[in-house]
Amino acid sequence: MSETVGATRWGDGPFWGVGAEWNPDWLLTDRHRRWRDTLIELCEQEMRANAERSDDELKFPRRNLELLGEHGFLALTVPEEYGGMGGDHTAFALACETIARYGCASTAMCYTMHITAVQAIMLRPTPELVERYIRPLNSGTIGTLSYSDPRTGGHFWYPISSGAERVNGDYRVRKQSSWTTSGGFADFYVIQTTSPDFTGYHDLSVFVVDSDVVRAQPSLWDALGMRGNQSGGVEIIQTLVPADQLVGPVGDGAESNDEVVDPWFLLGSSSVWNGIAMGAIDIAKRHTTRKVHEDTGLRVCDYPTIQDYVGEAVIDTNAARLAAYSLAGALDGATEGNRRVLSPGDTARAEYLHWCWQLKFTAAKNVTGVVDRMLHACGGTGYRRDLGLERYLRDGKAGWVMGPSNEVLRQFVGRSVLLGMDSVDYWNQTVNERVVTNETRKMDAAAKRALAEKLLAEAQAQEGMSS
Ligand SMILES: Cc1cc2nc3c(=O)[nH]c(=O)nc-3n(C[C@H](O)[C@H](O)[C@H](O)COP(=O)(O)OP(=O)(O)OC[C@H]3O[C@@H](n4cnc5c(N)ncnc54)[C@H](O)[C@@H]3O)c2cc1C
Repeated sequence: MSETVGATRWGDGPFWGVGAEWNPDWLLTDRHRRWRDTLIELCEQEMRANAERSDDELKFPRRNLELLGEHGFLALTVPEEYGGMGGDHTAFALACETIARYGCASTAMCYTMHITAVQAIMLRPTPELVERYIRPLNSGTIGTLSYSDPRTGGHFWYPISSGAERVNGDYRVRKQSSWTTSGGFADFYVIQTTSPDFTGYHDLSVFVVDSDVVRAQPSLWDALGMRGNQSGGVEIIQTLVPADQLVGPVGDGAESNDEVVDPWFLLGSSSVWNGIAMGAIDIAKRHTTRKVHEDTGLRVCDYPTIQDYVGEAVIDTNAARLAAYSLAGALDGATEGNRRVLSPGDTARAEYLHWCWQLKFTAAKNVTGVVDRMLHACGGTGYRRDLGLERYLRDGKAGWVMGPSNEVLRQFVGRSVLLGMDSVDYWNQTVNERVVTNETRKMDAAAKRALAEKLLAEAQAQEGMSS
C-alpha cells in the first residue's frame, strides 16, 4: 500500500491530513473522484478560509455557495437534460462529506438542505417547477427546507403551525418554522403544511415559495456551532401561492417525506458529520506529528495513547462512512442512479428509511465522540481557536440534536424492531392501551368517575363537531 498513489493534493503540495488510502474509494467511480478533486481545490483556494469568517462573524457562506454554483454543484443531482450534472446519491454523500471535511461545515449543511429541497421538487417535476426552480440553479440560486415547527420541536414532520386553503384554484398558505438553514438568505423555500380540507396529520402538502413571501430575522441567529448556516425561524403569513407551486398532488406530504426529504437529508447530513469527524482527525494528525516535546525528544504522535485516540477515531469514522456510501449505493440501485421518476404511490428510497435512521444515529454519535477525542489528543493547543479544531468540535455537536435527534432515532429503531414498523406513530395517533390501563388502575373510584365524565364531555363535543 503506497501513501502517494492517488494522494490528496492541497494546493501545490500533498494534503497534510489523513492519507487517501483511508478513503473507501472502491465505492466511487472516476467521475465521483473528479468531482471530489474539484471540491477539494475549491476548499483549498477559498472555502476553508471563508469558513473562519462565517464562524467569527455569523456570516452566511454566500461566497462558498456561489463557488459551488459556478462549478455546477448546486445542480449536482439534477438530470443533465435539465441543466444538471446528473449525479447520484453517492455523489451527494461525497460532496457533503468533502465540503465539511476540507472546507466549511456550515456551507455543507446549507448545501445538504439545498439539494434536499431540489430533490423534493424533483420528486414531482412539472415543466413550470423545472423552469422556475431547477434550470436557474447554475446561476447560483439557493433553496432550503423549512419544516421544523415551534410547537412540535424536532418532530419536524408534524407541522401544527401551518395551513393551506384553496382560493380560486390557488392556495392561501401560512407556515411558522422554528429553524430554517439559510433562513432569510435562500431564494426558494420548500415547505410542508397541513393540506387544504385537512383530515389529520398524515394529510400534508408540499409547496415551494419564493424568498419575497418569507419573513426571517437573520440578525437573531446565534449558536454554538454551524454559525454560518443561519438556521433561524421563518414565517409565511397567509400568502397566496399559485397552484403550480404545489409540489405533487394535495396530500403528497407524507410520501414526499419518506421518499425524498428524509432519505436525502439524512444521507447528506450524516455525510456532513462524517466529514467533520475526518476534518478533526486531519487537524489532529497535522498538529501531533509536528509538535515535539524536547524533554522526551518525542512528538505528540509518538505516544501510544495518541495513536490509540487516532486509531479508534479513524476506525469508527470509517465505519460510519462505509454505512453512508453503502446506503447511498442502495438508494442509487433503487432509483437507477437517481434517474427514476416516481409516480405517487411508487416507493424506492422509502424502503430504506430505517437504514437512514440508523446511519444518522451512527454518524452523529460518532462525530460527537471523535471531536472530543481529537481535542484531547491535541491538548491545550486544540482548545485555542488558532488550531482550527474547536470550530469542528462546535459544528459537530449539532449532529446529535438535529431532528430527528438521536434520542428519537434510537427509539424509532428499537420500537420498530420490537413492535413492528407500524408502531412508530409519527403523528401521535396510536393509543397505547397498556399505559392507559395501567394509569387508570391507580385511580380510586372518584378519580375514575371524574375522568369518565371529562372523557364523556370530550366525546360529546367531538361528535357534535363531526355531525
Ligand atoms: C444547525 C441546525 C440546523 C437546522 N436546520 C434546519 C432546517 O434547515 N430546516 C428545519 O426544518 N429544521 C432545521 N433544524 C431543526 C432541527 O431539525 C430540529 O427541529 C431542532 O434541532 C429541534 O430542536 P428543539 O429545541 O425543538 O428540540 P426538541 O424537539 O424540543 O428536543 C428536546 C429534547 O427532547 C428529546 N425528544 C424529543 N422528542 C422525543 C421523543 N419522542 N422521545 C424521546 N426524546 C425526545 C430530544 O431528543 C431532545 O433531547 C436545524 C437544527 C440545527 C441544530
